[in-house]
Amino acid sequence: MITLNNVTKTYTQDQTVFHAVDSVSLSVKSGEIYGIIGRSGAGKSTLLRMINLLEIPTSGSVIVDGMELTNLKGRKLRLARQSIGMIFQHFHLVTNKTVLANVLVSLELANYPKKDRKKRALEVLRFVGLEEHVSKYPGQLSGGQKQRVAIARALANKPKILLCDEPTSALDPNTTREILGVLKNINERLGVTIVIVSHEMDVIKSICSRVTVMDKGKVYETIEVAPQGIVD
Ligand code: ADP
Ligand code: ADP
Repeated sequence: MITLNNVTKTYTQDQTVFHAVDSVSLSVKSGEIYGIIGRSGAGKSTLLRMINLLEIPTSGSVIVDGMELTNLKGRKLRLARQSIGMIFQHFHLVTNKTVLANVLVSLELANYPKKDRKKRALEVLRFVGLEEHVSKYPGQLSGGQKQRVAIARALANKPKILLCDEPTSALDPNTTREILGVLKNINERLGVTIVIVSHEMDVIKSICSRVTVMDKGKVYETIEVAPQGIVD
């Protein structure tokens, strides 16, 4: 579903070239929950953002669902990106829009048929358990509820892939378990392939089947894990 071949991202500062991600190759299978772990600064977030070309690789290729994204531009790239949803540590919601309007924005941007937008938005909001909160503003929600809105927004366009950048790092342990449960549900019931970046091994171990350990921009190792389930 996702193949990265020798993907590198460099930043140049004061004529010094710094490798944020250094020749990383990996592949994520369809239907998998895949983890990327490593300490802060290891290059995890940069790597994740290259999967949907939010960051353009300096070199290497990114192949998603059979398409080489690194070759696409303009409208074709925008279309390919619609099959990839993304969520973040700090949710990135539009604070002056309601929960429903936040989800509608993503459907508008994707040119989802106008007459079906509201129905689709309410459907995904129900899926993440927010049907009673659709008219609230983000400031009226708990952290876990905010992340559910972000998940609904990411799922609205029926992506095949969901990228999660530290999805539980701003949440307390109980809410973390809840959100991991939502992600597991999305994977099992909707068949969405999930990639999770985290610095917490407990998070990764609870739902991922494989994990790549990154250090200083490189893959240190990739290991199979038997998901332990979401335990107390
Ligand atoms: P992680 O997600 O593992 O914490 P990041 O991918 O965010 O790591 O960052 C990897 C390295 O790349 C860090 O040292 C970071 O400072 C550097 N970096 C990330 N983005 C930029 C940028 N836009 N300009 C310069 N350096 C960057
Ligand atoms: P959690 O610790 O689970 O993230 P919070 O303590 O933040 O939960 O919130 C608990 C409940 O209070 C939630 O159901 C949320 O809807 C409500 N709530 C949180 N912040 C506000 C707010 N600013 N205005 C109204 N209700 C809020």
